[in-house]
Amino acid sequence: MAALTRLSKPTFSSSMASLLRRSLSSSAMASEPNPNFQSHHSSFSRNTNLVRKDPKDRNVQWVFLGCPGVGKGTYASRLCKLLDVPHIATGDLVREELASAGPFAQQLSEIVNQGKLVSDEIIINLLSKRLEAGDAKGESGFILDGFPRTINQAEILEEVIDIDLVVNLKLREDVLMEKCLGRRICGQCGKNFNVASINVKGENGHPAIIMPPLLPPAHCMSKLVTRSDDVEEVVAERLKIYNEKSQPVENFYRSRGKLLEFDLPGGIPESWPKLLQVLNLDYEDKQCAA
Ligand SMILES: [Zn+2]
Repeated sequence: MAALTRLSKPTFSSSMASLLRRSLSSSAMASEPNPNFQSHHSSFSRNTNLVRKDPKDRNVQWVFLGCPGVGKGTYASRLCKLLDVPHIATGDLVREELASAGPFAQQLSEIVNQGKLVSDEIIINLLSKRLEAGDAKGESGFILDGFPRTINQAEILEEVIDIDLVVNLKLREDVLMEKCLGRRICGQCGKNFNVASINVKGENGHPAIIMPPLLPPAHCMSKLVTRSDDVEEVVAERLKIYNEKSQPVENFYRSRGKLLEFDLPGGIPESWPKLLQVLNLDYEDKQCAA
């Protein structure tokens, strides 16, 4: 079994390096004040103590995009371990704030209890707090998961911090649907499983996709339940809403030369090495020989 070892420094191909150079120069231009957004953004820019760092002096600052069910969190957290950067998921920030007695906890619990969306302002504040705390601990770099979700958030982020690269994970919609419909949760231990066995034949130049199910141990098998919102209609609506909302954010980063589209070729065993390859991350499997 190939063991991944921590790499000293990610190495980029010349095309990736030029992409990053392009994106860095374009982000410098884009950080010019934009009168249309001044009023929205000024409070965040004023309130943050974050300092822009030269990419040479810090680790990667990446964003992971992808629709629900694509496995974004899994790939983001694996890459974070590999690159030794924190995996910052805004969903976790909201849950942690709710569990704490933090300044937004009260406001957040009202919003969440009423089923409303958490405002950009609160999300930005939580993220800013998290990044500053990381900075103070000597953390360098990050991978953001679930943020930015809107152009407004992307613009605010751009005012205070440079994003080097945005990885957009994609999976064929029919496969994604099958995967979502195959999700099961154990009613006793709460662990997540997937009973979908995906085996799509390659055709018209598209590669075959094979994703084995993630089956539970025998003692969970009889206790599996399907979440009430994992039915075809609801999943389709969720994907539609995601696509509508994410398009502008994808375009925002595409226009800055920072968007890297990655079509997942299958499950983790096929996708992970390919992802490392397109990101030009070295990985070694020498440890197993030792
Ligand atoms: Zn169980």
